[in-house]
Amino acid sequence: TTMTNKTDPSGDVRLTGIAKTYGAFTAVHPLDLTVPQGSFFALLGASGCGKTTTLRMIAGLEEPTRGTVHLGDQDVTALPPYKRPVNTVFQSYALFPHLNIFENVAFGLRRRGLKSVKKQVEEMLDLVQLGEQARKKPHQLSGGQQQRVAVARALINHPKVLLLDEPLGALDLKLRRQMQLELKRIQTEVGITFVHVTHDQEEAMTMADTVAVMNAGRVEQLGSPADLYENPRTTFVANFLGTSNFIEAEVDSKNGDEVVLKAGGGKLVLPASRCSAPAGTGGRVLVGVRPEKISLTHADDAGEIPVGRNRITGKIADSSFIGVSTQYVVDSPVCSDFEVYAQNIDRDPRLVPGAEVVLHWNPAHTFGLDAAQDAD
Ligand code: ATP
Repeated sequence: TTMTNKTDPSGDVRLTGIAKTYGAFTAVHPLDLTVPQGSFFALLGASGCGKTTTLRMIAGLEEPTRGTVHLGDQDVTALPPYKRPVNTVFQSYALFPHLNIFENVAFGLRRRGLKSVKKQVEEMLDLVQLGEQARKKPHQLSGGQQQRVAVARALINHPKVLLLDEPLGALDLKLRRQMQLELKRIQTEVGITFVHVTHDQEEAMTMADTVAVMNAGRVEQLGSPADLYENPRTTFVANFLGTSNFIEAEVDSKNGDEVVLKAGGGKLVLPASRCSAPAGTGGRVLVGVRPEKISLTHADDAGEIPVGRNRITGKIADSSFIGVSTQYVVDSPVCSDFEVYAQNIDRDPRLVPGAEVVLHWNPAHTFGLDAAQDAD
């Protein structure tokens, strides 16, 4: 049941210089953003960063202080919500309790005066896999099922864009995970643009093609989940999308495509392409290394690991066994609380607190940030 086709630009969302202030407070700083037709786009950020305000300006529920909203070629900035080709799903499902599931979904069609709604409603209920539940009342369904009804109801009028405001916020963790995959499947099937607001980085990464990480009313970085994770440009983004170690280093020299850095008496190398800091000698770089990218070797076995390239000695300060992996905290001259996650498939029983270890990693698995720029 593909409703629109990927090359139809009418489902593009284009925000141009859009901003929102409340008195002296700026909730959203002037923002330019394009969401291409048919993509699953997530606005990700902590509470108060302006993501809901941005979504509500697309919906027409909030009037921008300045800037414009385009849906496809149409400037909708001055249009009320109901005249925009969008629909919104909220965290509170807001189903009609006295109507059965079929009638809840049919509501939008009946309001438009349509008489023969059966085929469309059944198609929509099949899409959200609730064909069997049509005659039940909302209170007879689980939270996840009710949210799927809300999605079906929002899609029945064939919006060009579906806006989702923390739609899974009320569900428990397991159901949330299921619904993430379910919403992703529905989006792929209908092929329309989804703009999804969440504060949950794992949710954004699971579902979205493109994620905008928001911080204090600005988009801090935009990219695919993998790109944001592998190439964060600020410590904020690096920390929001997981855990990272940061090593304060100084540029020593440039060697071909590699930047050579001094840190804690040792040397680190970083591909120049992965360093967003100025790489002139003496430049200060924060080298980010994700805990799962590090190999941890007992010092007795570390003879093979070449000295001078991302090889750091240290001592295990703490370890926690968490099933599939063990999380270690290592004290080293370059970083006092170095976090290392090791898969337990080859767990070494000697790796206990107090053990001398060597950490090393592939330079391609790290990133360099501008320490000066990130100082705020
Ligand atoms: P949350 O996840 O908590 O909803 P958010 O990132 O979606 O957070 P917004 O709801 O967009 O954040 O709010 C952004 C900022 O604007 C917040 O600091 C909020 O207090 C403020 N704000 C929102 N609506 C109003 C309003 N009507 N009047 C004054 N300030 C507001």
